[in-house]
Amino acid sequence: TYSDTADEAVRATCDDASICKRFATSKGYWTDLYAQYFVRQVGERKAPEINRGYYGRVKGVNLLLDAFLEKTQCDCQVVNLGAGLDTTFWRLKDEKIMPKKFFEVDFPTIVARKIHHIKTKPPLSKPLIETHSTDSLLLDGHSLDSDRYCIISADLRDLPTLEDKLKKFQINPELPTLFLSECVLVYMTPEQSSKLVHWVADTFPTAMFINYEQVNMNDRFGHIMIENLQRRQCILAGVDLCQSLDSQKDRFLSAGWESVNALDMMTVYSMLPQGDVSRIERLEFLDERELLQQLLQHYCICWAVKDKLSLGLSQIGF
Ligand code: SAM
Repeated sequence: TYSDTADEAVRATCDDASICKRFATSKGYWTDLYAQYFVRQVGERKAPEINRGYYGRVKGVNLLLDAFLEKTQCDCQVVNLGAGLDTTFWRLKDEKIMPKKFFEVDFPTIVARKIHHIKTKPPLSKPLIETHSTDSLLLDGHSLDSDRYCIISADLRDLPTLEDKLKKFQINPELPTLFLSECVLVYMTPEQSSKLVHWVADTFPTAMFINYEQVNMNDRFGHIMIENLQRRQCILAGVDLCQSLDSQKDRFLSAGWESVNALDMMTVYSMLPQGDVSRIERLEFLDERELLQQLLQHYCICWAVKDKLSLGLSQIGF
């Protein structure tokens, strides 16, 4: 039912994200000891605006994620939807703030590549073995399951299969669960992403959802961004991307989430710890601050909570 060319182009976006993150970390924007094992070469230079944009994205998402881990005292699960080659699990292990179990979901080809990297690189596999209680760690071409970390190949538009696989890997709907989607929902139709968000709300009584993606696409800059995505065939013509912060929030509010916030990245950037922001702003000279502002205004973080266990999840914010 889905176009293979479009799906292939979407899968390629995973490389963009990890290549850009690898470059920014090589410049010192933030520390990631594990990106090097997924993307070997630093690659060609990226513009300072791009690096600062990724800095805001990673710091912003991590701030909310870490706050959730603290509120739940790590007695929780994390599900990274469309995780790509993300390295968050290894950071949490090093910082000793691992959830009970960390799940990642992506398309089979991405999952196979990620598993290959993990299998062949001890700095990636060692933490999995260390946190696993038995000798039998499930590891084959398309799935990996250990006590604290697993990777599932599934299509996020096929919810019955997603649910089956999460269950098979022992997800516990009663535990507080954080869902994370970073530049992922934008590749689905509004109906598909609404259904996903709805399913999470219906299935997990104590949960948080963090979504990072494009916003405010109905101006000139936004149209250029859309054209670029369409040229690469990542999104189909006619997909409604012109979402405002309000429509970002509505997606969650109309799906039964209790409290919902959305901020554009310009605002998030200004609310990040300013000592570190000053540090990274000295790393590379930026001659056109306006371009950075435009870029940041076209991305947002939206977060929603449901708090049956009354953990105070709605207090989480910047
Ligand atoms: N979240 C990662 C990050 O920020 O570094 C990767 C972002 S990348 C732009 C988008 C990812 O979402 C890709 O790895 C892609 O394969 C995955 N993805 C998009 N649509 C998906 C779907 N319907 N099912 C599973 N994965 C999907």
